[in-house]
Amino acid sequence: MCFRPPSAAKSVKCPSCGMFNPPTLEKCKKCGADMTKAKNVTSEK
Ligand SMILES: [Zn+2]
Repeated sequence: MCFRPPSAAKSVKCPSCGMFNPPTLEKCKKCGADMTKAKNVTSEK
């Protein structure tokens, strides 16, 4: 069986630097940009 936790299925791409962050983060872990304005996107399809 192969499954992932729902929280790991999506990532939020930083609008500033393009870093993929967990949707739980409010700020980019790389550049500190506000992630609440970013759209949720899937890291891979
Ligand atoms: Zn960033």
